[in-house]
Amino acid sequence: MRLIILGAPGSGKGTAAMVLKEKYNLAHISTGDIFRSNIKAQTPLGIEAKSYIDKGQLVPDSITIGMVAGRLEEDDCSAGYILDGFPRTIAQAEALDEMLAAKGEKIDAVLSIVVDDEIIKDRVSSRRVCEKCGASYNVKYKPTKVEGVCDACGGSVVQRADDNPETVAARLVTYYENTQPLIDFYNAKGLIVEGNNNVDSDTCISDIENGLKALGV
Ligand SMILES: [Zn+2]
Repeated sequence: MRLIILGAPGSGKGTAAMVLKEKYNLAHISTGDIFRSNIKAQTPLGIEAKSYIDKGQLVPDSITIGMVAGRLEEDDCSAGYILDGFPRTIAQAEALDEMLAAKGEKIDAVLSIVVDDEIIKDRVSSRRVCEKCGASYNVKYKPTKVEGVCDACGGSVVQRADDNPETVAARLVTYYENTQPLIDFYNAKGLIVEGNNNVDSDTCISDIENGLKALGV
């Protein structure tokens, strides 16, 4: 099963990817991780990517695609994978199709995690994080036992500066602008499977499972 997952920041995409990874024995491939591991291992592509990042420039598609191609050859991808953070553009999506077609493979479905903007704004604004151990909390849905104190380590639990409704709204606008062309691209191929995450993760996952069945994946 070869999947792509799309979802706005705060949509619960990460949680959905984790559940599906376990359920279907898939590799979860995030572009962030691929960049970090190539840079750390100082692969030729990693060294090239770092030279752009250090200059504050965008890493060219050819480098990103090269890294993804390498990652898809690793053993843990043999049962399938979920691509997270790639493709970001139509050019990348087309390159991915070509890369897979050369191996007689294709993307089976593109999962789109859908959440109403107001719900995302509400969830993100009530999010808190432990400064010391990184544990995450939510003042509405998963509060600490003592206000402002981490249950796990006793560290201070704070709100991140960019977790406020205005910043979240701006992030959402950027996300939709960048993602709609991809949704349209994969919709035309009949590959979009929506998971509605307005209520909870279980509902979202069962939406996705039904959608995958309907596609015969
Ligand atoms: Zn902590």
